[in-house]
Amino acid sequence: MQPLKALHVPARTIMTPGPVEVDPRVLQAMSRSILGQFDPAFTAIMNDTMEGLRRVLQTQNQWAYPIDGTSRAGIEAMLCSIIEPGDRVLIPSFGRFGGLLAEITERCGGEVHMIHTEWGTVFAPDTIIAAIKETEPKVVAMVHGDTSTGRIQPLQEIGYACREHDCLFIVDAVATVGGTDVKTDDWMIDGLITGTQKCLSVPSGMAPLTYNHRIEEILMERKSIEQGLVTGEQEELNHQRRIRSNYFDLSQLQEYWSPARLNHHTEATAALYGLYEGLRLILEEGLEQRFERHRTNERALVAGIEAMGLTLFGDPGCKLPTVTCVEIPEGINGETVRAMLLEDFAIEVASSFGPLHGKIWRIGTMGYSCQKKNVLQTLAALEAVLLRLQVKIPAGEAVQAALDVYKQVEYEKVSH
Ligand SMILES: *Cc1c(COP(=O)(O)O)cnc(C)c1O
Repeated sequence: MQPLKALHVPARTIMTPGPVEVDPRVLQAMSRSILGQFDPAFTAIMNDTMEGLRRVLQTQNQWAYPIDGTSRAGIEAMLCSIIEPGDRVLIPSFGRFGGLLAEITERCGGEVHMIHTEWGTVFAPDTIIAAIKETEPKVVAMVHGDTSTGRIQPLQEIGYACREHDCLFIVDAVATVGGTDVKTDDWMIDGLITGTQKCLSVPSGMAPLTYNHRIEEILMERKSIEQGLVTGEQEELNHQRRIRSNYFDLSQLQEYWSPARLNHHTEATAALYGLYEGLRLILEEGLEQRFERHRTNERALVAGIEAMGLTLFGDPGCKLPTVTCVEIPEGINGETVRAMLLEDFAIEVASSFGPLHGKIWRIGTMGYSCQKKNVLQTLAALEAVLLRLQVKIPAGEAVQAALDVYKQVEYEKVSH
């Protein structure tokens, strides 16, 4: 029998909407020794991670901790812990990930009320508020930044409206936290989920989430139902109403993240070291500085794309700063271009889904990948590939336009 080949991991420049490159400090942290999950040295790291999450998620909530699993594990944990069969859930959807919220809600037995807007746009808050009045949902669940279309939905007015109409506001902020402003408390978000492999710039595999007392009340009520079932008291009453998942039961998980440290699953200790170090890096950089870095690199990328004569997809008024969607020029196979970028330049950009498949490329500027060097290399490589495929674009303009932006930003900084 042949021995297994040595692990082969080529160096890449990753300009996709995740997973993205991570700071070497995160990888180093993840290679530290294993600790037992009840070791005081480890529970101290858990507590510090919760504190770091509160700051990055801009919340005073007691509960802010990661679910072990990718972002959708966090979404599923949140929804299946809140939604009971028959609960009405309003899902305003402006891309693929609105569909994910609907699918999970439906699997939890929720009654899904979806409203849609054309891909490439987002909702006017009034449209959503009107739908809240009409459907009177228990929960409004929606995406903040949808990576499939590269759009961002302003949330503040919707958050206020949810509170006013006494429904819970649940937000998938997977693509935005750590890259652009997300104000959990100020925007009155009751439950928020994010992921590690996007703007937090930590390997995939954890889904930080936070929730407030309004959600905790539901968890406690459903937990008491569960306990009633165990003791046989409320059997018939409420079999329907128990939280259907063990792994994703937030009422149990919060007991593990509380000083009680009740055993649940075995914590992914090395993954938590990575998250901790990623949060530390974000707070060292400063939230506002980090958002500014994301804006600057986005601006340079967009300037370069436009200087090439390519067209951006979607309504510019709601462009997601961490993802740039570019229309694939007529007569060009988008996958050929992506393959050449990867093989010849070791650069990865993304394709798209559903109605946009084959129509746009998506270029991420997220976390550690969101650097001047990466933006300039991506523009240079994309230009070279398109020229090689005989696309008629002006040669040499893209990188110059991006460099102009960086110079302009420097100038603005000095003159302020
Ligand atoms: C990437 C992404 C997800 C899903 O993330 P996984 O980590 O692959 O489960 C969910 N929502 C949004 C908005 C995303 O961008």
